[in-house]
Amino acid sequence: RSKPETIKPILDDIEEQFDLDEEALTSITTQFLADFNHGLSEYGEAMGDDVGPTFVQGVPNGTETGTFLALDLGGTNLRVCQVELRGDKTFTLRQQKYKVSEALKTGEAVTLFDYMADSVDAFLTSSPSGVASLPPSLDEEEKDPLPLGLTFSFPVEQTALDQGYLLTWTKGFSAKNAIGRDIVKLLQDAFDKKHLHVKCVALVNDTVGTLLSRAYTAGGCILGAIFGTGTNGAYVEKVQNIPKLKNSATVLRGDDMIVNTEWGGFNNSRTVLPTTPFDNKLDRESINPRKQAYEKFISGMYLGEITRNILVALVDAAPHPILFKGKASDALNQHYGLDSEIMSHIEEAWNSEAHGPTAEVVTVKLPVSDETEHPHAEKLTEKILLDFTKPLTAATIEPHTLHRLQRIRSVIVARLGYAPEDVSLRDAAVVRWACSIVARRAALLSGCAVAVVARQMGFVKGLGKDAVSEGEGPIAVGVDGSLIQFYPQFEATMREALRLLVGETIEKRIDIGLAKDGSGVGAALCALQAVKQQ
Ligand code: ADP
Repeated sequence: RSKPETIKPILDDIEEQFDLDEEALTSITTQFLADFNHGLSEYGEAMGDDVGPTFVQGVPNGTETGTFLALDLGGTNLRVCQVELRGDKTFTLRQQKYKVSEALKTGEAVTLFDYMADSVDAFLTSSPSGVASLPPSLDEEEKDPLPLGLTFSFPVEQTALDQGYLLTWTKGFSAKNAIGRDIVKLLQDAFDKKHLHVKCVALVNDTVGTLLSRAYTAGGCILGAIFGTGTNGAYVEKVQNIPKLKNSATVLRGDDMIVNTEWGGFNNSRTVLPTTPFDNKLDRESINPRKQAYEKFISGMYLGEITRNILVALVDAAPHPILFKGKASDALNQHYGLDSEIMSHIEEAWNSEAHGPTAEVVTVKLPVSDETEHPHAEKLTEKILLDFTKPLTAATIEPHTLHRLQRIRSVIVARLGYAPEDVSLRDAAVVRWACSIVARRAALLSGCAVAVVARQMGFVKGLGKDAVSEGEGPIAVGVDGSLIQFYPQFEATMREALRLLVGETIEKRIDIGLAKDGSGVGAALCALQAVKQQ
């Protein structure tokens, strides 16, 4: 075995690499702000240059009315919705999901867009009450076409509210003859071929949808942010601060415009992010090395993989293993074999009530060494969890802590495919520690992104120790994504960073709320904007 006293320093060293103090957070945020402003000014290849005007020039306040169609092309499903905005911050939504097969994802783009049109057709035909806004007596041709908003969350260079050119496919899509084409035109051509009386009036990014949808239900919103498979945000900017727009052919109709930050791509040159060997391994083995650098520190797709890299390194530690007696399960050996959802479960197991096992707990027979009684050992607290010089057994820790570790062990057995006898209480403690340092860093960095927007919009002057708050009243932020919804303490930790970066006054004013049905309601609201802006 490794000498017990040599192990704690190894873990401390890893933890230090993941640690972000106030100074680090401030310098990261300052650099983002600079990258970001550069992105607002120019198109190009440098950091932040994917920052994109969206041509959405108004934010709802909850009084909007009308019935709109929304189409959402996500990873696995195509969703068609009919959204009725009631004008009192509430809405009704009818929706249908249609599967997008591998053949559609990878075949000809025309086939994919024909399928989208077919799905809208099927949805309209199946409508129980017809489309509410259309009086049935009118002749088809005399009616205005039904306005539809398309939520399309792939990188697009948007040139008008209803025009955007696909830059690249992501998330397993590779349909041919789409890159460089106008997505709205591809969809409209498919509608027209089928003589559908539907007009695609708006192309919406999911972050913009999140912002608009929260604005509608909260009566206003300044930022829409996604913390799910990926991460991104969109916020409201002054047109005069977007020099990129100077060559735009589109006539602008207001002083504000929503900007898609594409913040997942910040710091692609990695000059400010504290990159560890575990991050480098992830990046090197990813399909997009040196791209989406910030996203790789933050989002659901990657957190599990960073954690897996730490655990594998501890399993392989020389001269002697630190974890799982040197054994790696199939899941642990598998690239992306540890989902961030498992991290959530591990943290939940740790946070759970002390007593009374729940149905989730798999009863695990303790390995003999763990059950050996140490009658003279003091019952110690959590401090000994990572102190390998002290025995960690049922006899040496409080029942509360023991119970939590046993629950974690159950998750490891159930979700990482380990035999119970290969998972000691110490292993459980180490796994939970690894999850917590990776997730904590992600949540703190997420706070930097929100701070950049608060600073950019002038809610605060200066950052860190120089932060001075401006104005008063709530600052509504709409969020979506499994990570922020389900990961224990994610928002609380994000707020910790915000307090350091923009001060407590602003942090308290920031009102984070889930954007319910963001992509459907957001696309409907965007279609409404488009009709207004026409
Ligand atoms: P998307 O971003 O694709 O629209 P989600 O917001 O559901 O979808 O995010 C999916 C991502 O969130 C996946 O990477 C998955 O690993 C992760 N995830 C799912 N459930 C949880 C959870 N309970 N805790 C943390 N992460 C989760």
